[in-house]
Order: sequence, then structure tokens, then C-alpha cells
Amino acid sequence: MSSTKAPFDEALRSVAEVLSVAPAVTVLCHTRPDADTIGSGLAIAEALRRLGTAVELSFAGPTELPTALAQLPGADLILDSKDVVGHPVVVAVDCASIYRLEALSALVESATHSIVIDHHISNEGFGTINYVDPQADCTAELVLSIIDELGVTVDLDMATCIYAGVVTDTGSFKWGRPKSHLIAARMLDVGVDGRRWTRTLLDTHRFAWLAMVSAALDSAVLIESAFDGRGLVYAIVDHDSAAALSWEESESVVDIVRTTAEAEVAVVFKEGSPGQWTVSMRAKSEVDLVPIAVAHGGGGHQLAAGFGASGTAAEVVRHFLASV
Ligand code: 5GP
Ligand code: MN
Repeated sequence: MSSTKAPFDEALRSVAEVLSVAPAVTVLCHTRPDADTIGSGLAIAEALRRLGTAVELSFAGPTELPTALAQLPGADLILDSKDVVGHPVVVAVDCASIYRLEALSALVESATHSIVIDHHISNEGFGTINYVDPQADCTAELVLSIIDELGVTVDLDMATCIYAGVVTDTGSFKWGRPKSHLIAARMLDVGVDGRRWTRTLLDTHRFAWLAMVSAALDSAVLIESAFDGRGLVYAIVDHDSAAALSWEESESVVDIVRTTAEAEVAVVFKEGSPGQWTVSMRAKSEVDLVPIAVAHGGGGHQLAAGFGASGTAAEVVRHFLASV
């Protein structure tokens, strides 16, 4: 009997087979780490430790671990990327492309088994086993399936980390599928403090964030004719206006800019270091952002995608506008 679920079930079984007998596992999270990659990494690492497996966990530099994510249970065990040894079994979580592992990608290439766990439609399947399900709202959902398949009981620490991935990648359940709500209910039943973690992960900023947002909103431009009249709004967070803040504090600007009623697509250009930009794109429902992101060397989901760029603000914006 065939079913559309079959390839995922098979991948899930292969992942569990390899992980259940591996004496040591390296778990890798993507650069510019978010709550889904770190929550997923911490949850799978803790489940493996419960099986008696030696685990090392790290994320790709050069960015720092965001303050909020450093509070997740087990985050103190995250290694600096240069201290990672690299075991024969390597797991990459929430990485759409191998280059999002930066220098750590060499460990995937040299591993005997490289397991890719991800929910990005643009995922290239760069592992020897690819458990990639674009239907999943977050990678943490897939990690939970693996933990269940391994027969490990989800404790409060694992539940907190899984909840972190679910609540952030569904935009506080704004676009969560029924399964995400069911998973959240299960994690809350385990004892997760949902109110605390939502505030920590999504609703806490330093005072200087207000000034950065103010400058970003002041820069906003609306092009109502773009995307066949569906509209584009974009804003710029330049290096100067974000200099007092850590890199992750500009990540939420796109969530404000995207509320513009006249624009189907919202884009925020963020200058991490002078001349080096990360670009976040969001669509409401009608425009597929993946081809645009891929054309610029990035990736992501249909309604949320991104890429890197370099140049002056004017150059980066002009280059983007010429491509849409
Ligand atoms: P964000 O705007 O939140 O950084 O990213 C939105 C989505 O696009 C995320 O799912 C993220 O993984 C993906 N994305 C962002 N930047 C890149 C990139 O440079 N390369 C790839 N492959 N995906 C990206
Ligand atoms: Mn994710």
C-alpha cells in the first residue's frame, strides 16, 4: 500500500535505526541560530543522552547565541564550533542548505551517516538520510517524532525546547497547523511554562531596540505596483542603527513591516557588518518567495525566505528590485 506519508515514515525509521545504535553523535544547528534550530538540537541531544549516547552540540558561527536561546535548558552544553570533534554520525537540524553550517559543513561531508532533519521546501537533501517534511511547521515537530520513535519519554527540558521551536516558527500559532497546536498542548501538559517562554523568546527586547525599530520604520518604502499590483514594502536596518544591539534583535523588524495592508510582500535588509547584509522576505499568501531567494543564493519557505547580499544599501536594494 502506498501513501504520501510513506517516504517520511521510511526516513524516520532510518534515522531512529542509526541513532539508536550510534555510540556518539554530533548535532549541528545553523548559523544565525533561531529557536527552532537550537530547540531542535537541544531536544534531540538530550534524548540521545538519555539513551547513553555521547553527544556534542554546536551551531555554525560567526554569530553569537542569542540571549533568549541561551536560557533554554541544556544550552550551557552547547560547544563553541571550534571545539567540535565530529563523530561518524552527524545530525543537522533546520538547515535548508549545507552552507548554513558554515565551516561545520565539513563534518557532514566526512560523516559515515549524515542525518538531515528539516522542514524547508528548498532543502537540497544533503545528508545520507534526509528526514525533510515541508508540511511540518517546524523542525522541532520532526525531532519530536524521532524522540517518540526512539522510545524516549519527553521530559520537561525536552518539552521546553520543542515548544520553543513550535511557538516561534508558527509566529505564536498565527499560522500553526492543527498538529502544532496538538504538540503544544502535549508539551504544556508535560509542564512547559508557555507564558514565560513566549515572552522570553518573542516579546522581550532591550530599550535600544525601540530606537532601531524607529529608524527602520522611518526608512520604509511602499511600492504598490510591485508583484503585479499586489504591493511590496521594504525597510532597512543599517549597521549604524543596529550597532548597539546584538544581531538577533533586528530579526523581528520584518514582523512589524509585514503588517502593511497595501503590500503582499515585505522585505527587510539588515546590515550585520558594514556592507554585509541578510535579507528577510515575507509574503502573505499569494507570492512564492522561494524562487526569489534561490535566485539570490538563499532559500526558505514559500511565505518566509531569505538570502545574503553585499554592497551599499542602495546597491543591495536596487539589485533586489531588479530581480522581482
Ligand atoms: P529569516 O528571514 O527569518 O532569516 O528566514 C526566513 C526563512 O528563510 C527561514 O526559514 C530561513 O531558514 C530561510 N533563510 C534565510 N536566509 C537564508 C539563506 O541565506 N539561505 C537559505 N538557504 N535559507 C535562508
Ligand atoms: Mn525552522
